[in-house]
Amino acid sequence: MSGKIAYNMMLKVKGIRIAGTVEERAAIKTIEKFLKDIKVDYKKETFPIDISSVGKGEIISGKKKFSGTPYGLSVPFNVSGRLICIESPEDFKNLNYDFSNSIVMIKERPTHKMFADIKKKNVKCMITYSRTDDRTSSLHLSSWMFRDKCIIPMIDMKYSDAVKLMENQNKKIVVNGSGKTYKSNATSVIAEIRGTSKTSETIYVMGHIDSVPFSPGASDNSGGLGIIAELMSYFKKNTPKRSIVFCLFSGEEWGLWGSRFYVSRNKEKMADINFGINIDVAGDILGNNFCVVTGNDEICAVAKSVAKYNGITLKVSKDIYSSDNMAFSFHGVPTLNLFRAGGLPSGYVHTSDDRMEFISPDGLSPLVDFAVKILEFAGNGAVNPLERRVDENTKKKIEDYFINRGIQLDEVTDNLPYKKNKKKN
Ligand SMILES: [Zn+2]
Repeated sequence: MSGKIAYNMMLKVKGIRIAGTVEERAAIKTIEKFLKDIKVDYKKETFPIDISSVGKGEIISGKKKFSGTPYGLSVPFNVSGRLICIESPEDFKNLNYDFSNSIVMIKERPTHKMFADIKKKNVKCMITYSRTDDRTSSLHLSSWMFRDKCIIPMIDMKYSDAVKLMENQNKKIVVNGSGKTYKSNATSVIAEIRGTSKTSETIYVMGHIDSVPFSPGASDNSGGLGIIAELMSYFKKNTPKRSIVFCLFSGEEWGLWGSRFYVSRNKEKMADINFGINIDVAGDILGNNFCVVTGNDEICAVAKSVAKYNGITLKVSKDIYSSDNMAFSFHGVPTLNLFRAGGLPSGYVHTSDDRMEFISPDGLSPLVDFAVKILEFAGNGAVNPLERRVDENTKKKIEDYFINRGIQLDEVTDNLPYKKNKKKN
């Protein structure tokens, strides 16, 4: 396979595509046209979503003012307090500091679980700093974890400014921030190629349409969309015994909303899904191909064999992957997460540098090839050759993943905020 169909699709859907915006709707139109052209049936699934604009904020110390990006989906704030710099969230437990009325600067964002402790210490605000100066942080998105639970105002600032701010340790500083949260409707596209004989079993292929607010989202995830387009066109002509459902989800970047919404409405189907393939981040000219299996060791072994047999360089490992696969694997469906990373744009995922100039058909073709080979192998096997099991260790990691983001297990695909709107559909 050449990766050319994938690349052409990428060129058509490129550009910022925030969930529920006109730009994303334009990308969906392009996908619909493609599906009509290749004669694959599909349906659309619309759901309400809260998104926020990238807000503005300031960190003021004496006469110095630094700009910052407040974490989104939170209320505007203006607080003052004594600056304390710590190196790790663990320091809240390990250091015997008086954190009351302090503003804490920290490298990494604490997990949601730790917020209760931090709140108890009476911290007024937290400042994080980005890896480099030339990227706008995507951390404001992390607030999806804190939606309705955003306990402490948080803001992200440039690394070089953070270094300057260090001079003001233990002095009083002021931090303010404002962003705008608004409601919209996001749309996922669900297409299906019916198998030739074993149609009671299905294999899912998924990837997300939306991008983060300030990123053209080339590798993340026009790349995945492009590869899925090439797979649909291939399997329409080379239909396997088992059915393949292709899900192009919206709202991934704001908390895996499209996939969680889909799974919440199709729980009875989960038992019939042999496995899923999720493609999120792909296309770098320079990079390495990865397959992270959220499932079990036997699937890792099969994936390695299929790659070797077909001469495809692929690093296979077993772990969770923060993407649309999570809601499926939470319900026991093993998932193979294919991605290509290591070149510049993948390091710059969620930044304005995730652009098409770093992408080529050659960067796409290994994952297209691997997906074709494993889908043919598993789609035509006499019995399902990929053991349908998520092992205990992985299950625990999936649960921790959601809990660390402030999502209780009964909220992953149940009690979703938009459930009450179900009647409208
Ligand atoms: Zn992504």
